[in-house]
Amino acid sequence: MLEDDALLFSLGDLADGQVNGTAVDEVEELREQLANLQAQFNAYRAEVQKSLITKLEDVDAPKEGNTRATNIHGAAEQDATQTLEEQVDSGYFESYSYNSIHEIMLKDTVRTDAYRDFIYENKELFQNKVVLDVGCGTGILSMFCAKAGAKTVYAVDNSGIIEKARQNVAQNGLQDIVKCIRGKIEEVALPTDKVDIIVSEWMGYCLLYESMLDSVIYARDKYLVPGGLMVPSHATLQIAPLADSEIQVSHVGFWQDVYGFDMTHMLEKAHREVLARPVDAEEIAADSATFLQLDLRTAAKKDLTFEKGYKFEWKEGHKLLEGLVIWFDIFFLASSEASLATSMTVPLAKKEGIVAFSTGPATKQTHWQQGVFLIEDSNVAPLAGEMVLGTVTYRKREELDRSLEITISWKTEKEHDLHAQTWDLE
Ligand code: SAH
Repeated sequence: MLEDDALLFSLGDLADGQVNGTAVDEVEELREQLANLQAQFNAYRAEVQKSLITKLEDVDAPKEGNTRATNIHGAAEQDATQTLEEQVDSGYFESYSYNSIHEIMLKDTVRTDAYRDFIYENKELFQNKVVLDVGCGTGILSMFCAKAGAKTVYAVDNSGIIEKARQNVAQNGLQDIVKCIRGKIEEVALPTDKVDIIVSEWMGYCLLYESMLDSVIYARDKYLVPGGLMVPSHATLQIAPLADSEIQVSHVGFWQDVYGFDMTHMLEKAHREVLARPVDAEEIAADSATFLQLDLRTAAKKDLTFEKGYKFEWKEGHKLLEGLVIWFDIFFLASSEASLATSMTVPLAKKEGIVAFSTGPATKQTHWQQGVFLIEDSNVAPLAGEMVLGTVTYRKREELDRSLEITISWKTEKEHDLHAQTWDLE
């Protein structure tokens, strides 16, 4: 900025020996002015540097403190030579490199306790076994397995967090059992052909957001011995109606008056995006319906794109169908042959001594909360006892492999035509 400064040019001239008596004072004055300018410039540069550092720190900080793997759209450094899929991938793995996301998961006791309980309550299954932990994060599940008697645990993660896992494992003296390997499970060379058990915590919002299950299926088909154990073994997807909800008011109504300003333009996509929210159980107008049960020992990648039917009975005391709510339940069967009854629920499983947990609104909230699908023009008001039915379609978005497009249709039994709407989870 100072390169073309007239002051500098005149000083240059003076330095060339054209200084006379009267000019000496001028030179002093000019020197002073220059010193002033330089001081200002230094202050300016310090400011710029400070704000640059703050900006860099912003980039370093996780994007959203309380959510899981939301940063899947290439927030990582963009490399022009990467394909879109590679960019999405680096954003995804970068989002798992920060401590905060792992802290949230570890502090989710519903989630972490279930894995611990299953592993510690079934130590005989782990005795002397070779285990693969797909996406080990901080190494918690690998360490549970090591403590339960596993011979070797391969802890694989493609995120920078693996360095922390390695330290955590060593800090707890488990480095001879738990081997940390950085890489995508699809690409790493494991020092073994087969493993006895695969343990993984792969669940995303509405179960399949993140598409991490694809990687677990890949690992299972490549490494798991026939009859090997999948931990967890089953997942179900649940749907229920949302009625008389605060969410509609707080999410949509909010923009109508923000400090006295109409910001309804902010609502353009309000009814297209799936919201992750803790739903009040009082706002659920029917017992949930299971629309998918996945047996993780046999599920194939093609099973993750589907259209399934559902049906539930409207409860008394609710008026308008304002939206639909989706969540998942997870089950840990100790036998690799046993099947899960199609009518199985988490309370029932627990009664039978099966480790299970729900991410629904009726039990303690998890970090996944619930997927809320607000209906744009809700005008269906079922009567108590009336059946509401429809379909749920899960589709991967083609251009962004890890995101989901979910279409739900609905109608009461006496209506002729279905209503339908599509939402994005991205
Ligand atoms: N097991 C840990 C972390 C679960 S989060 C826990 O229970 O706390 C999922 C982890 O899987 C993330 O750290 C992510 O980086 C990793 N991951 C996802 N897909 C992967 C893949 N294809 N290969 C390797 N790691 C993967």
